[in-house]
Amino acid sequence: MTPLPAVHRSKPVNLDHYRTLVLNANALPLSTTPLSLWGWKDAVEAVYKKRVQVLENWDGPVIRSQKMSIPVPKVVMCHEFVPVAKKGIPALSRLNCALRDAFTCGYCGNRFAVKDLTFDHVVPRSKGGLSTWDNLMMSCRKCNCMKGSEPANYNGIRGVVRKGNFVPLWKPRTPSWDELYKIGLRNVPAEVRGVFGNWLPEAKGGRPAPLGMRVDATQGWDDDGYWTAELEP
Ligand SMILES: [Zn+2]
Repeated sequence: MTPLPAVHRSKPVNLDHYRTLVLNANALPLSTTPLSLWGWKDAVEAVYKKRVQVLENWDGPVIRSQKMSIPVPKVVMCHEFVPVAKKGIPALSRLNCALRDAFTCGYCGNRFAVKDLTFDHVVPRSKGGLSTWDNLMMSCRKCNCMKGSEPANYNGIRGVVRKGNFVPLWKPRTPSWDELYKIGLRNVPAEVRGVFGNWLPEAKGGRPAPLGMRVDATQGWDDDGYWTAELEP
């Protein structure tokens, strides 16, 4: 394998702030949750080894060697299509469950940052409910607290949120990987979309966020694996 040439940067700037969006050969991101963003070293190496095509460079930083100079890429595209669709049932993690529910409380219908959501067992564990796709939904802390250890009531009065009348707005179900990918794409954080939005499909479809509720839904999930750990039933 050809080693990357010894480099020096064009200016003493902190390149760690520069991220590169990686698109598959079909022009869609390799992943959406999190969005496929590489650090500058991986991106420059992929360009040097001609594994990717550069679609846009950052304005400014250039990595120079004796023989060549490579601008730090902002957006690259894989030459070959990388199969990203996974087979089978998605792993049941808090993150995937939050994605399936589009960061929306399953009882009051409001959207929240992921850190303000919690898991709700539709049938509580104390009453035999398991941690399964069809028994878990995201709930805001207020609803979760009010619901307490009561089972959700599918026959209750819709739109009335009170103790003993917690009516799920939808029936939880197993999502597909493709569905989670698309929901992730719609929920790319606003500041990331502000930088790379020209290269991302329009954020449309799905349940719209209530007016005035522009939350960064991904806030608070890049922690110690709490959100991504697969759950036991
Ligand atoms: Zn709620």
